[in-house]
Amino acid sequence: MKAEFNKELIKKYDRPGPRYTSYPPATEFTQEVNSKHYIKKLIESNQRKTPLSLYFHIPFCEQRCLYCGCNVIISHRKGIEVPYLERVYREMELVSQYLDKDRKVVQLHWGGGTPNYLEPEQIKVFFEEIVKRFPIDENAEISIELDPRYLTDEQIKTIKEVGFNRVSLGIQDLNPKVQRAVNRIQPYELIKEKIEKLRETGFESINVDLIYGLPYQTKESFEETVEKVIELNPDRIATYSFAYIPDVKPHQQLLPKESLPSAEEKLRILEMIIDKFQSAGYVYIGMDHFAKPHDELAVAQRKGELWRNFQGYTTKKGVELLGFGATSIGMLYDSYFQNFKTLREYNNAVDKGEIPIFRGYILSEDDFIRREVIMDIMCNLGVDFKKIENMFEIDFKDYFERELEELKEMEEDGLIKIEEDKIRILPVGRLLIRNVAMVFDAHLRKKRELKFSRTI
Ligand code: SF4
Repeated sequence: MKAEFNKELIKKYDRPGPRYTSYPPATEFTQEVNSKHYIKKLIESNQRKTPLSLYFHIPFCEQRCLYCGCNVIISHRKGIEVPYLERVYREMELVSQYLDKDRKVVQLHWGGGTPNYLEPEQIKVFFEEIVKRFPIDENAEISIELDPRYLTDEQIKTIKEVGFNRVSLGIQDLNPKVQRAVNRIQPYELIKEKIEKLRETGFESINVDLIYGLPYQTKESFEETVEKVIELNPDRIATYSFAYIPDVKPHQQLLPKESLPSAEEKLRILEMIIDKFQSAGYVYIGMDHFAKPHDELAVAQRKGELWRNFQGYTTKKGVELLGFGATSIGMLYDSYFQNFKTLREYNNAVDKGEIPIFRGYILSEDDFIRREVIMDIMCNLGVDFKKIENMFEIDFKDYFERELEELKEMEEDGLIKIEEDKIRILPVGRLLIRNVAMVFDAHLRKKRELKFSRTI
């Protein structure tokens, strides 16, 4: 089922809301949940014997891209990563002592920042430190984010040798004027050369990231980028909408504001993106993600088994995610935990021998039910009432009476179809799944009601 672009409906439903990489979203995390809760939950998790997913955050970059919304440390001066890596090893030690040794890692991801900020030898040692503490499944999905500008042949060789089998490259936009404006110069030829090298080296899956809404972009200019990306033939493509928040990210003030595309132009770009990638044979997964029809993400979505975590869409529902490094977030069965965001606080905690948890969240029974419904909407394009009733022993129509009433407007607008025993997302609703999910978000509802009661 292809996604259909309907400008009027996108405008009608355009409102801020979570991307639901978790439910409840990270904005609900609280500092009342700390490392003591984490230890308790880690120990409990052994009874479930669930496989593990590990996320490692490498927050360093050589240069700042002016659109960047991440928490990063910019430094040409190599060496600052050395004490950080030592602390990440120490953090692994602190966490792994509570886990049964036979729990296999089925998914492992290095994100950033720029993981290829590390030298080949550092990559090797880092990986050895992980393997020392966590057994990796032979079919594990092992992925890394790469910055093509600094990627060397030696690094490509090393990441392959240590075991990575998936890579993700930040392309953003191939237009030289846009690249200059955002301070990220990487010619098409360079990216092509790196992708060819990665393929030659045997990488099975290549993901690329694009961003729309950057300065000087027009539908026509970005169309050239999209066409060149299709020629590069990646397996997955993520096209993020640029969030201009100069008050929160002061470096964005250096972007030429007057050359940012208008909201109307951004919609033209989005329409073109949806059309071009779908016409080229990519499946629209949701939330700006595309994948080839044989890719695991598309297969899992067809089977109704897709899920979301802090890295986006994943085929590994039911694993427990442990986050390592500053800012990283973990997701256990019934709880979320986030590490300190600044290096100073992260370092302090680890140096004191504490697991560096800054905040977290423990799910209620209601959160569990709503998380399942929201994830089914976001990932599997519909909700099967019987499935939810069997999982949680509720009567779906009774439990969600208010939500089903509220959804009627979306049904009238053609976004969804409410049937006797299910809700289906229709082609027009595929670009608005977040809005459908938001109807089931009890935390959002509470905030809205609070705001409403304050204003009247
Ligand atoms: S390389 Fe990535 S993380 Fe680093 S500054 Fe650029 S966008 Fe941000």
